Amino acid sequence: MQVDHFKKAKELINIIIGKGYQAYIVGGAVRDHFLGHQLNDIDIATSATPYQIQTIFEKVIPVGIKHGTVMVRYKGESFEVTTFRSESGYSDYRRPDHVSFVDSIDIDLSRRDFTINAMAMTSTHHLIDPYKGKHDLDQQTIRAVGSPIRRFTEDPLRILRALRFASQLNFRIDEDTYTAIKCLIDMVRKLSIERVTVELTKLFNGDFVDYGLKYSFDVHLFSHLPLFQDHPCMVDQLKTINKPFSKLVDVFVFLNRISVESPSITTWCKTYRLSNRTLNNGKRLCYLVNLYEEEGCSAWLIYLLPENLEQRFIRLIEAISSERIDMHHVQMMRRSLPISSQKDIKISGNDLIKWYPQREKGPWIQDYLKEIERAVLEAKVINHISEIKEWVLRCHPPENN
Ligand code: ATP
Ligand code: MG
Repeated sequence: MQVDHFKKAKELINIIIGKGYQAYIVGGAVRDHFLGHQLNDIDIATSATPYQIQTIFEKVIPVGIKHGTVMVRYKGESFEVTTFRSESGYSDYRRPDHVSFVDSIDIDLSRRDFTINAMAMTSTHHLIDPYKGKHDLDQQTIRAVGSPIRRFTEDPLRILRALRFASQLNFRIDEDTYTAIKCLIDMVRKLSIERVTVELTKLFNGDFVDYGLKYSFDVHLFSHLPLFQDHPCMVDQLKTINKPFSKLVDVFVFLNRISVESPSITTWCKTYRLSNRTLNNGKRLCYLVNLYEEEGCSAWLIYLLPENLEQRFIRLIEAISSERIDMHHVQMMRRSLPISSQKDIKISGNDLIKWYPQREKGPWIQDYLKEIERAVLEAKVINHISEIKEWVLRCHPPENN
């Protein structure tokens, strides 16, 4: 699959070359190819303009024409194809003010952040490496392309990117590059929060998160980030993290559960512009962690834990209470649950109304259904209409008259 993706990228490059343009695999894909890592996305740089690419391929999605980028769908895969460009001016610290298309890959590589990300590869695996990125890759070093001070001032996001690459790759940051980061760290305040969120997510999800965080603490990154800057004790809690969190919201859940001084999950998520869906998952995980602290790995907890949050929940429990929950145990418990949702209960609100004819309809119906749901789960009553009827009438005898 992976090999296939790379092979298709080379085919795509050859098609572009066949039309008389230059084309290369660039950036993260070249880096990850040499590292033998999973390729997230394969970026192609070309001398063809977006318009010319549109005339070559059938399925082209104009994702960022202004910046020279289109998405090409080729044999079931997506490739970001970007025209060689140079950038200038980042006055809003969000996007370059101006991009100009250029005709040489060397100029295109010069705008890239780190030497390990500034290599290009032909379809025959010939490497174009004007900044000795391969050497730095072998030396496990993150080094800015050109003057670090100038490059970080141009776009302070690169500061965060250096820290997150340290966390993902366990690479040291070159001395001059690191000195510039220390010196300019307060510039991260100028970044749009959306860009910060993307990089922070990758930082906390790095295989070497403790290493990336050590650098981050050393340069006082968190003193310049929203909420952390007002709650220094949150930063102390981050110091206990030694394994990755796959989602940023899970870091917030961790902080929220471990310290009473933490802002609410809603405040964290709104500040870091996470979606409502993410916020709801965060709230759900908070609730479940709390429930675990009260009653351990109960049937009720497993029932309320959505399958897609299982792994994240287990990771959170490990981080918060140092207890290990075995995934197989959770899956076995899930399989032995008598019901998997309220819909599986063999009675409905209408049955309750029939059994309590003297009562007016009201919130008691939902309350009773919830009680029955929990009793069925805890095997206090069998999920069968007559058993439930007997149980509920015993627990809540109908009032006389
Ligand atoms: P990932 O594996 O997370 O995708 P990546 O290095 O591929 O890492 P992308 O955001 O996909 O990161 O960017 C692709 C390439 O574009 C980078 O490898 C780098 O060459 C260049 N790049 C990305 N962001 C910047 C930036 N802020 N400044 C300079 N170059 C950048
Ligand atoms: Mg990438």
